[in-house]
Order: sequence, then structure tokens, then C-alpha cells
Amino acid sequence: MFICDCHCDTLTELYKKGTSIYANDQHFDIQRLIELGGGLQFCAIYVPTQEFRYYGGLRYTLQYLDKYLQEVKKLHADGIDVLQVRTKEDVADVLNHKAATLLAIEEGGAIDGSLEALRCLYELGVRAMTLTWSNRNDIADGVNEEKSGGGLTVFGRQVVAEMNKLGMLVDVSHIAPAGFWDVIEASTKPIIATHSNAKALCPHPRNLDDQQIKAINENDGLIGITFAGQFLENDYNDACIESVYRHIDHMLNLIGNDDHIGFGSDFDGISHPPYNIQGVQDYKPLVDFLATKYSDSTIAKITHQNVLSLLGKVL
Ligand SMILES: [Zn+2]
Repeated sequence: MFICDCHCDTLTELYKKGTSIYANDQHFDIQRLIELGGGLQFCAIYVPTQEFRYYGGLRYTLQYLDKYLQEVKKLHADGIDVLQVRTKEDVADVLNHKAATLLAIEEGGAIDGSLEALRCLYELGVRAMTLTWSNRNDIADGVNEEKSGGGLTVFGRQVVAEMNKLGMLVDVSHIAPAGFWDVIEASTKPIIATHSNAKALCPHPRNLDDQQIKAINENDGLIGITFAGQFLENDYNDACIESVYRHIDHMLNLIGNDDHIGFGSDFDGISHPPYNIQGVQDYKPLVDFLATKYSDSTIAKITHQNVLSLLGKVL
């Protein structure tokens, strides 16, 4: 089993608690990923720009980025075979390594309104950015801005164009519907919703409606099914492996193919994980369950091939 997971907030915990990415008692660590059979984990720097109103995100981002780079250095010094994915060539090489990580940013306020900062963050290894968190920033409105109806700003369009040019994944999880449709129109490359589920099954504002799911399919993009209990079931206490399956199955049936669905657990960022998914080790029972429903080829696509294929097109 090789698992590509498009979103976790593990870096936040590592920085705040001073813990190690190799082994910890959080939802995710590299040791358990390797024991599982390996995988590629997107590691997001979540930037709480609502606390900054609005500038100061860049300094915050660099602090967490430094933690990531120090952790990667430590893994390599300890002889642990973990690839940091930065190029198309790295993507083609992922399966030859025990594990891999990809540096991401969750909240475009990280760039403090500066395309120069965006380019520098790319140079430091950032390969995916969630344009907004749930609030408004200078790129677009997030899903909490229910009444504003705001889509991409002029600056937001420049950010999408620059990310397309650099080869950085444009992530539409958290963005409000108007911005979502603006990104679909503006992006010249396939996009990603790193951690979002189906609104038809669970009507949370963070989930995607059927039109959005179809649009990501047509855009050749990818949706990472997330394990946040609140986005899986109306009562998060009911969230379980079967709920994850139901969201996957809804999307597969809706789009009529298995090329655009993957995982985006949101490990270490979720308060209410499914009762039988308590960390990265529980990909095993999840995939075992999915194997009773789908062919080996579909399982391989959902667990890793679709994400690698998207990265091959965008990076
Ligand atoms: Zn999130």
C-alpha cells in the first residue's frame, strides 16, 4: 500500500510542541507511514491570518517553513529515505522511496499580498497553496463569508496566474463558491481541492456541491476526501470508515470515472476524526474496506496514482 495524502496540519503541532515528524503521538508521523507501506504526505503550513488582520503572514509562514526544512534535514541525517517533492522528476521517483513529503501552504495570506514573496516561497520548496482559509483575504473570500458573494480579486487572479506559471498546485478547499468558479475559469492548469467532501451527503459549507465536483473532473483536477467528522456526517459522532467510502462512492458515480479522487485526511488539523480512523496507521483498515468495494486498479488510483498523475501535470 502506498498512500498519497493531500493535506495534514502536522507541521503546526510539530512547531508548537517541538515534536518530530519522524515519530510522535500525533495523527501523523513518517515512521507509521513507512510501516504502512510508504506514501507521499502533503505538509501544509496553516497560517491564521485572521489573527493578523491582514499582514504578518509571511513571517509566520517562514517560522513553520524553517521547522519543515529542519525536520527534513534531520530525517536525511538519520538515513531515513524521505524524498522532498519539488519537480516532475521527483514525482516520477516517488515510488522508489520509502516516503515523500510535499510542502504546502494553507491560506494565501501567507504571501502578504506580494507576488515576489510567492515566488520566493516557491524557491523554498512550496508546491501547493490553498488560496484562502475560511475567511476573507486579499485573494478571495473563504466559505465563512456567506453574505459577501466575493470571488477572486484582481490580485487573486494574478496569484492564480503566477502559481500556474511557477507550477504550484492551486487549492480551492475553503474558498467561497464565487471564488471557486473564478478559479475554474482563470486557471490554465488542473486544480485541486485538497480536503473537501460531498455536500450532497453532508451539507457543510466546506464541502463541494455536485456542480463543483463535476467542474473539477472536467478541469482534470483532483479532490482529496477528508476525514473531518463534521464534513463526513451531519453528526460527527457517526463518522467512520464507511462514511469515507460513501463520499468516495458518491463522487465516483457522479463523475463516471476514477481518475480524480484521492485523499486529504487533514490529520492533526481535525478535532473529530472518524471513530475508526485515529491516525495514519488506520489507512490500513480503510483501504481494506475499500478493497471489498472496488477493483485493484481503482484502489491504486485513489490511494496514490491520481495524485502523482496530477503532480506530473502541474509541477
Ligand atoms: Zn483546512
